[in-house]
Amino acid sequence: MSSSEPNVLASADVLEGLDYWRSLPIKQQPQWDDLAEVAAVSKTLSSLPPLVFAGEVDQLRDRLAAAARGEAFLLQGGDCAETFAGATADQIRNRVKTVLQMAVVLTYAAEMPVIKMGRMAGQFAKPRSSDTETRGDITLPAYRGDIVNGYDFTPEARRADPERMVQGYHTAASTLNLIRAFTQGGFADLREVHNWNKGFTANPANARYEQLAGEIDRAIKFMTACGADFEALKRTEFFVSHEALLMDFERPMTRIDSRTGTPYNTSAHFVWIGERTRELDGAHVDFLSRVRNPIGVKLGPSTTPETMRELIEKLDPNREPGRLTFITRMGAGKIRDALPPLLEAVKASDANPLWITDPMHGNGITTPNGYKTRRFDDVVDEVKGFFESHRAVGTFPGGLHVELTGDAVTECLGGSEKIDEADLATRYESLCDPRLNHMQSLELSFLVAEELGRR
Ligand code: PEP
Ligand code: MN
Repeated sequence: MSSSEPNVLASADVLEGLDYWRSLPIKQQPQWDDLAEVAAVSKTLSSLPPLVFAGEVDQLRDRLAAAARGEAFLLQGGDCAETFAGATADQIRNRVKTVLQMAVVLTYAAEMPVIKMGRMAGQFAKPRSSDTETRGDITLPAYRGDIVNGYDFTPEARRADPERMVQGYHTAASTLNLIRAFTQGGFADLREVHNWNKGFTANPANARYEQLAGEIDRAIKFMTACGADFEALKRTEFFVSHEALLMDFERPMTRIDSRTGTPYNTSAHFVWIGERTRELDGAHVDFLSRVRNPIGVKLGPSTTPETMRELIEKLDPNREPGRLTFITRMGAGKIRDALPPLLEAVKASDANPLWITDPMHGNGITTPNGYKTRRFDDVVDEVKGFFESHRAVGTFPGGLHVELTGDAVTECLGGSEKIDEADLATRYESLCDPRLNHMQSLELSFLVAEELGRR
């Protein structure tokens, strides 16, 4: 480093603050049985290179600020729980491809930039409704995601193993490397992505979306005829995000930026606080209030305007554009009642959060044959309720957060392929929540495009 480069040190207060969460109530953490091992892993993690750079994080904050102003739209998608075994070239490519395909449709309909973000390269830790799982007369610790323990129902696999955090780091690094290669190396070429979409609308089941695809086709041909600079359209920005849940991973990945002396969580561009860990006086809210990354908070149907105001006060005291995203996950039957009061309260205040809809987590059901699933129609209905609520209040519906995969799994019911309960068994691969498959994801993007066209 040349001596002219700044190297701003963090103040003692800032450094101390980063560990204040340790004194607060905390939920959803594993029971490690060897704390010395956790400390050793933490030291290892803190010496590994950052996965993302502070400058990229700042760039994303600017992009999200535009979305909060109604000048961009955020598309955030990926697995409920990434697995180490699932970090293969094919699966990563298919997921990136799906997000890019959806983004083209949304960009056209919204007539504005779409910020592309994966629930990828670090979405390894899961909150659970119970600390344990019982099968027959055996009770073991619940599966908390590959970064904590294994899925197999054996005492060995279910033991919380700190070494998995190092594997989580390396798996995130190789996933991110491939994402960067795909999105910078020509794979994301707009014309190519549009060609993939033509494959989707050529399927008779998706005929109703042909008109929109045809319009996009003409727009691209028009741009080509005008000599548009397709070099620039061969590359795209792609950000990564995950739920900041596992504190023994998030803390050592948080580093002081030498330009500013402020802390950045360098494990992802964007991190969010889940519905189960957003207590105002809890560890997660405190820790994330101290990092510079743009952060999200999930808001379920029980959220009161008062709680929301306190979250804003804690997480975004300076009302910094792009800093705070509310990810609402109300349920299709509740969103039209639960969301408007929150929007009204924000509208009447000086806060400027980005609002995005997660139409997945409020719509879970279990089928009689025992599958955790979601109905595509409920997902679509919640998205419609989200747009309706924003239209009614006069606020901006700024994005979509979905659990999806690029593969032809059968985890959610419905869609143009009409997946039914009996089909779920065909290809159900998620270790956690059911994801939209490739076709359902594209179909959702066409349906959201119709909503965007009506704003
Ligand atoms: C998730 O995003 O996978 C999740 C657990 O969501 P929520 O915190 O909204 O329940
Ligand atoms: Mn989930």
